[in-house]
This record gives sequence, C-alpha cells and structure tokens, in this order.
Amino acid sequence: MAKKYVYSFGEGRADGSAGMKEKLGGKGANLAEMTTLGVLVPPGFTISTEGCVYYFQNKGKYPAGLERQALAALKRIEKIMGSKFGDLEEPLLLSVRSGARMSMPGMMESVLNLGLTSKTIPGLIKKTGNPRFVYDAYRRLIEMYSDVVMEKAAGIEPEEGKGIRAQFEHELEKVKKRNGYVHDVELTGDDLKKLVEVYKQKVKKVLGKEFPDDPKKQLFGGINAVFQSWNGKRAISYRRIEGIPDDWGTAVNVQAMVFGNMGDNSATGVGFTRDPATGDSNFYGEWLRNAQGEDVVAGIRTPAPINRAGKTASSQHLESLDEAMPKLYRQLNKIQRRLERHYRDMQDVEFTIQDGRLWMLQTRVGKRNGPAAIKIAVDMCREKLITKEEALLRVAPSQVDELLHPMVDPKAEASASPFAKGLPAGPGGATGQVVLTADDAEAWAKQGKKVILVRNETSPEDVHGMHAAEAILTAKGGMTSHAALVARGWGKCCIVGCGALDISVSAKRVSVDGRVLKEGDWVTLNGTKGVVYEGQLSLRPSDPERNKAYKQLMKWADEVRTLNVRTNADSPEDSAQARRFGAEGIGLCRTEHMFFGAERISAMREMIIAENEEARRKAVMKLLPFQKRDFLGILEAMDGLPVTIRLLDPPLHEFINLDKVQAKAFAKELGISARKLQVRIAQLHELNPMLGHRGCRLGIAYPEITEMQARAIFEAAVELKKKRKKVLPEVMIPLVGSVEEYKNQEAIIRNVADEVQKRYKIKLDYLVGTMIEIPRACIVADRIAESAEFFSFGTNDLTQTTFGFSRDDIGGFLPDYLEQNILPDDPFQSLDQEGVGELVAMGVRKGRGTRKGLKIGICGEHGGDPASIDFCHRTGLDYVSCSPFRVPIARLAAAQAAIRGKQAKKASKPRRPKAKAKVAPQKAKAKAKTLKAKPSKAKASKSRTRKTRSRR
Ligand code: PEP
Ligand code: MG
Repeated sequence: MAKKYVYSFGEGRADGSAGMKEKLGGKGANLAEMTTLGVLVPPGFTISTEGCVYYFQNKGKYPAGLERQALAALKRIEKIMGSKFGDLEEPLLLSVRSGARMSMPGMMESVLNLGLTSKTIPGLIKKTGNPRFVYDAYRRLIEMYSDVVMEKAAGIEPEEGKGIRAQFEHELEKVKKRNGYVHDVELTGDDLKKLVEVYKQKVKKVLGKEFPDDPKKQLFGGINAVFQSWNGKRAISYRRIEGIPDDWGTAVNVQAMVFGNMGDNSATGVGFTRDPATGDSNFYGEWLRNAQGEDVVAGIRTPAPINRAGKTASSQHLESLDEAMPKLYRQLNKIQRRLERHYRDMQDVEFTIQDGRLWMLQTRVGKRNGPAAIKIAVDMCREKLITKEEALLRVAPSQVDELLHPMVDPKAEASASPFAKGLPAGPGGATGQVVLTADDAEAWAKQGKKVILVRNETSPEDVHGMHAAEAILTAKGGMTSHAALVARGWGKCCIVGCGALDISVSAKRVSVDGRVLKEGDWVTLNGTKGVVYEGQLSLRPSDPERNKAYKQLMKWADEVRTLNVRTNADSPEDSAQARRFGAEGIGLCRTEHMFFGAERISAMREMIIAENEEARRKAVMKLLPFQKRDFLGILEAMDGLPVTIRLLDPPLHEFINLDKVQAKAFAKELGISARKLQVRIAQLHELNPMLGHRGCRLGIAYPEITEMQARAIFEAAVELKKKRKKVLPEVMIPLVGSVEEYKNQEAIIRNVADEVQKRYKIKLDYLVGTMIEIPRACIVADRIAESAEFFSFGTNDLTQTTFGFSRDDIGGFLPDYLEQNILPDDPFQSLDQEGVGELVAMGVRKGRGTRKGLKIGICGEHGGDPASIDFCHRTGLDYVSCSPFRVPIARLAAAQAAIRGKQAKKASKPRRPKAKAKVAPQKAKAKAKTLKAKPSKAKASKSRTRKTRSRR
C-alpha cells in the first residue's frame, strides 16, 4: 500500500491531530484538531511535509499515491459541501495554503478561489445570483495564480515593478480612473467582467501562456507553487533568521472556500485570545464586513475592533462585531475561549462569516511581545491552565530582555525604512544625534543633547564618549568587539559590524550607498535587531521593577534553578545594578577597566615605560590607592557575596595607544625624550595582541603588578572586615596554561595575603583560582586543580584559541560561514558545544577528578546566552556569570535548563508496570520528542537574543 501523504478533515472527523505538526505543519495539524473538537472548519485535506520533501528530492515529482490520495480526499470535501470541483451547476471552489511545522508568517504562498473557469463561472453566478462577487473572485484568482504559480514558482524574476501583479494593478487603476472610482469596491460586475478579460490577455502577453481554464490543472498548479514557495527567497532568509532547518519542507492545505465578501451578512476577521501587546486577558481582534481575509491584511480598508473593549479613541466610531452581529460574536467568543483552554496557550484565530454562518479558518499559538509573554504565562499559571514549570518554559529568555531596556516603538518602526544593518550587540532602542568622536559625544551630552556615537571601532580611549552616548554604532568589529562588550555591560544599545557605513571623521559625515548623515542628524537604533533608521523614532520606556508578572516569574525561576547566576562587573554602580537584577556574586571583575581614568592612566603608562623593577614598583604603587578604592566599593556593594577579581590581563600596549601629539606631551610629563618613548612603544607593539604578552604572562614578567593588585584586594577586604562588613574575595589568575604558571602567581598572591592579614591582625576568607581559557588548561586541568581553588571558564578566549579564530576579526568571514551553514551560529555568542564545549567538559571532569566539589563557573559572554547556559547546567557548572543586564535572562534560562534536565531524567527512567506497557512506550516517546525539541527552541530563541561576548 502506498504511504499516506494526504490527511482529510471535515464534518467532525479528521485523520490528523494537533500533535502531528511535523507531518501536517502547524496549520494542518490545528485544522484537524479543530475539526475533531467540533468547531466548524471548511472541510479539506493536508498534504504532508513528507510529500514536499520528496518533491524536492525528486526534481519536482510527486511520490506514488499522492495524487490519487488527494483526488480521493477531494471527493470527501465534495460530499460534505454538496458541490463539485469543476461542476457546471454547483461548482466547488478551493483554497491552497502553505503551512510549515513552525509558523513562517507571510513567507510562503497561498492561492484562493481555485476552480473558477469559463465553464464554472455561469453556474456560480446562477447559484449566488451575484455576478459581481463571482467576477471579483475570478479577478483575485487570476491575480494570485499568475503571480504565485505562473511567475514565482516558474522561477521568473521580473524587474522591480514589472511583475505580473504590478501590471494587473496598473490595469485596475486605469479602470478606476476612467470611471472616477476611488475604492475597488466601486467596481461593478460589468467592470470586473471586462477586467478579467484584460487580465487574461496580459497573462498571455507577459508570461507567454494561457491562464489555465481547467480546474484540476489549477489545483495541482497551486499545490506545486506552495511546495516551491518553501524555497522562495523570502522563506529561505526567514529560515536563516529563525534557525529553521531547510529540510523540514512545508505541508499544503487544500480547503473548500468560504467567503466573507458575499454581502453585508458576511465578514472576516482575526483575533487573539489575549492581547498580544500587553497580555491582558480580553479577547482582542479586528474584523471587516463584506471582505476577504486579504483585505484585512492589505490595509486598504480600516478594520474595526472585534468588541467594545478593544475600542480606542481613534476607533470609537467604528462598529465592533459584538455590536453588529451579537449572536455570531457570542459564538466566536465561546469558540476562542474553548480553543485557548484546549491548547492551554494564547491563540491567534482567523474566521470568516459567510452569509451568517461562522467558519474558523485557523488557530495557532499567537505571537506576543516580551511583556505580554510574561503576563500571559503568569496569569495562565494562576488560572491553573498551566503549571509553574510550563509558565517558565513559555517565556523565551530574550523576551525578558524586552522589559529591561527601552524599545523602539514597533508601530513607528513598521513604517520606517532601514538606513543600515549591523550586528545586534546591545539590545534595546535609542535615538539621538550623530557624533563621530568620543570627545564630541561627551561635550554634546554635557549640553543636554542625546547623541549616538558612530565610530569605525572603539577602544578603551573612547569609554567616556561611549558612556555619554545613548547608543554606540560601529562599522567594524564583531559581537566580541570592545564596543559590544562595554555597551552590554552598561545595558546600552549598540550595533557593531555595520560594514556599509562609510565614516569620515574629518568631513563629519557618514554615508551608506550614497545616503548621507551629517554630524547632528538624528538616527534611531534598534540594538535588538541591529537596524539603524534615519530620524527620531519614538521609544517605549522600560520599568521592570513595577512589573508584577515579571517579578513573579523571576521568583519562580529562582525556586527552580540550580545554577547560580553571577555578574561580570567592574564598578560599584554596575555591581549594584546587577544585584538589583538578582546577581548572586561577581564572576568576573576585569581590573584593566580601572586603569583608564584620567588620574590613573599616567601612572599606568609610567609603570609601562619604567626601565627597571625599582622604577616600575614606584609607578605601580601609585596605582595602589586607586585599585584599593575600587575594590572597597565593589566588595562593599556585594555585601559578602563572592567577588572574583581577575588580575591584569590585556597586553600593556593597549594602555599606551598614543598619537604623536599625545606621545610628545607624555614624554614631557615623564621627563624623557620623545624618541625614547617612541622606542618603548615600538618594543611593546605586538602583531597578535590577543595571544601575546598578556594574562598571567604579564604577572610573571612583572610580578610587582600582581603584588600591587593582590595588595589592593586584601587591604580593601581587611578594611571592610574591620568595619564588620562581609567580604568574600576570590583572586583569579588569567590565561593559565600550566600549573607552573599558576603556582608562580599564586605564591605572590598568598604572600601578600599573609602579610596583610598579619599586619591588620585579621583573618580573611578568600580563594585563589584561575581562568580556564586556553585548550592546554583544559587538558591539564587535573594538575591545575591540585593548586587552584576554583575554575572559571573564559570561553571568549577558549573559543578563540580552540578555533584559531581571532575574536576581533571574525566579522570578516563569519557572514559567509553562517550563510553557507559552515557554522550554525557565531561561536563567540553561543558556545560551540561540539568543540569548545567538549574541552569545557574535559576541564570539569579532570578538575573535579583531582579536587572533589571544585567550584566551577563560566565568565565568557556565553554565560548570558540561553543555549550555552543549558549546556553549563548539563555539564555540572556551579554558576554562570554575565553582564548585569543579562542576569535576569540567565536566571530564567537556568530555570529552564533545570526543568528540561528534570524532564529528561524522568523520560529516561525505565518504565516498570507491565500492565501499562502498551501505553507507556508511546508516552515515553512523546516525552522524548518534546525534550529533543526543547533545546532547539532554546536555540531558536537564542538567535533572537542579542549576542554578546566580552573582552577587556
Ligand atoms: C574570556 O576569555 O572568556 C574572558 C571572560 O576574559 P576576557 O574576555 O576578558 O578575555
Ligand atoms: Mg579571557
């Protein structure tokens, strides 16, 4: 027997069900489910995604049995509807719609009104008594079919504005103009009758073929076109963005047509069982009398609110459906409630009223924004529709992010056209005037102006301007660039790697393909999507503290998660912010950020230029009071929570990046010749700074740096302890690759600790540990753990050194890698679990093999990425650490990882009771499937989460 490719539904019976999305697509599975629920759905059939996959694998051929099964299913529709496809008296009309496993709104094609031909038209006119309606339906069929089937699916790519649809549009406008009409509805039956003839001639002339007059040809043409649309440009790029695999294929839904444009007793509309923008639990939607679905979408007519509750000041005058057709509204309201309870999630429904009869055309899980997602999840749990665990899994961690930053108003954004696109490095929205230097950013901000700092790339020298700016936009750099890291730490909107920007600092202008922005022009950035707009778009403010649902969800997350969440912070302000967001300690305090302040940088440079140890020690000791003050502030802000302080990491030349004028001034300040300074700067220069003289290599060559930093940490700690404050410092040695390196630095640290404790007569609790961020450290983790008291995976450097990709230059080839599926994601945003992850797992295993219960965390940017957090949970890490604004995301992601872990454990437990053996395997299978699907959901959401990474 041929394999089943076609699944019928109608009149209360269906071959499929909601659980069959993989085969039937979301739409097909839900049509089947609604049918069995007894909701009135136009009868039809779904061709499975397997049919589509076969079609592509076999050069556009159907698998054996598909056509026969489709024709048999058509017979069933005919029986239910009491009409026949192609019949001269009682012609049945069909729609053909796409429907993939995951919703891909508007990405694929549909064709409506199939079955209208020169022979069936008279019959339908006789039946409906409405020639205008029939010719209008025929016009729409010709428009859609020629465009979708005869042009797009045939691979014809006309020039912009020359496509067949545009040509029809032109003809339609001509008729309207000739008759003085403003709206399409004014066209008479006669006008439309003539117009369809003009259309048919156009088809022949433009596409070189007659418009098919055979219903069966139309039907299978439509089916093929839907298959083909899976590989249309739009669909492919949508799949790339959403991480949907290419080999899923789409299902095709063929259904009897119902018409919302049959007169004033007909209508069409869409609704959400809860408000998708706020999460409020009222039924929300829009409707149009005497119209087809496409009229609602096309925006030609303004739809009215579905009920009085949905009316706003601007829609007060419009008649809502509950006012216009109260009985039908009540019926619809009952159905929407039933669907929501049945699916236990907010639904997005489509309906049509044909001559006073309500038909449901679609139900699916409704898309919602972040605040709505949180409110709906919490409300539904309280209404006992879902469990706490389900509520936690319902919210994508990236949706929490929407609450933490101001966002570009989606309405304003929808009508704006992008100026440029880059990588979404810092989420949220910002608007301001363009400035091109950090000094200008600071100066303009001081005058009360809002500015966007636009640079080729940023360096630590720019931080004052970056801080003053509303947002940062760079032409170069990846998600691991300086700009990305710094902005993220502050929760600032940032777009990097916007390669199309041509920046001229001297001419004070930025151009993209001939479009020019001058200094002072307004721009708006959507850092969540990486899109730049010209002008000032409105923003929606954020206020998470007042959001009760958010607070509740976070409370539940904290109850469930087992991973701790720390933060990467290096100032008391950031530490306090992170604590407000729920951080349970500092996982990475990068001390190098502390050396750029105006009073400190000179001492730092003096130390670098020093020719011998004595001079260096003298200079470095000038930094001690500053460092101590920093640590006092941070340790105090964290109030006894663990604070991991990393010793100096970056290569020294990064602190002495001077132009000629600055070098001359600095030489004068030091009392040395400019030439001498130049020679020292040249000595420090490195071609591979990310792998050069940095990390513990610095402390080994210049032990006085380690000594000074350790002193600052311990002196700050004892002083706080003296004041009865709680402190828990953890000193972290960077870039260790051998236990000998570790021991060298550890000895200096412990010596200082002993000396300080003795001097102050105070005993301190502290730990010394290391970053694990180069592959060798993972390999010899057992040896390192003999001495190190904790590990923290620096997955930024570990990724760079494992792949051999420079974290600063990956932007050059990453787009090609992603485009060609060589890499699934930017490995600096989402941990490469297969490679880098394997090293992490090895480090954990070996480290704990030596030191049982070794405390292990992660402080690379992956610590704020949901899919990587899931990995950390599974690998047994104790904590993740991320920038303050990602702490809530990490808390939720950690809770989700814990829930999934529990589910996986439950699903893998052997099933005992024998009597139930027949049922149990199926259940277990269903569970295993969910579990498999979940991580990929996390993956999909991750692609929307702005990526992050860090370095200095
Ligand atoms: C890392 O390498 O992952 C890390 C956290 O350190 P940095 O980014 O400062 O090199
Ligand atoms: Mg590092």
